[in-house]
Amino acid sequence: VSAAPNTFAGAALDRASARRRDPDWLARAAADPASRALVTVRGELVLGAGAAPLEVPVGAVAPLEGTAPVLLGLRDGHALFAVEAAGPPDGGRLASLREVAPALSQAEGGAIAYATALGNWHRTHRFCAACGAPTEVRDAGFRRSCPACGADHFPRTDPVVIMLVADPAADRVLLGRQAAWPPGRYSCLAGFVEPGEALEEAVAREVAEEADVAVGDVRYHSSQPWPFPASLMLGFTCRYAGGEPRVGDGELEDVRWFTRSQLVAGDALLPSPHAIARRLIDDWLEEEPT
Ligand SMILES: [Zn+2]
Repeated sequence: VSAAPNTFAGAALDRASARRRDPDWLARAAADPASRALVTVRGELVLGAGAAPLEVPVGAVAPLEGTAPVLLGLRDGHALFAVEAAGPPDGGRLASLREVAPALSQAEGGAIAYATALGNWHRTHRFCAACGAPTEVRDAGFRRSCPACGADHFPRTDPVVIMLVADPAADRVLLGRQAAWPPGRYSCLAGFVEPGEALEEAVAREVAEEADVAVGDVRYHSSQPWPFPASLMLGFTCRYAGGEPRVGDGELEDVRWFTRSQLVAGDALLPSPHAIARRLIDDWLEEEPT
């Protein structure tokens, strides 16, 4: 099992959380010509020349109304901010994070995923969930406070479990496909964790709902920030414990077993190497058959 972080992790920043409530330091950092800001627009990132994310002086791009520059942290001793803008600034073009991921370094992918997640949250949480009044940005972007009712709101991260179901006795794994995917694409089963549910319970419930299969021996593998718009993918492996796979709750078009030799032969079009689903499958393929 490889030790490298998953794509969209590994931002290589000091998050400098103690500075978020230091207005003098923040004002100096925002004015410092060595500080930079990444720019996001409605879940997409802004590229500059080539495939590199555009980096601008902090005041160079106007934040979307009701938002403000967010302090991502310190990179090589200099402040890195993120700005959610109404549109791409001059010299920038919009790009999908998933499409450009292969061209980004680990640290670039981590930083821009972090910026995108915060931009998504600010854009969609400008009004108080408790009373509907416009809220104000606090703590360098890590809190929104309601002046009308006093409620505080914090950036959300929505947990999603994603799991590879293995059947060691037959040296095979269970994969599913959604109707909207390219022909032949199969991937791991996945689903949102529900309130009042442990991660192990969410894994077993999702597999039962989507494939009518029972699992046990749920083991954590790794995780991946997935800012589409605000998820954290929590990767697990688990062991087949019974049942015949069949499409369950309508989320999937097909669910079926693939043996190791079928996957090696290319019988399934596997997900992008930048998705944790692929990492789970590749790590299983690298294991010695039992
Ligand atoms: Zn309120």
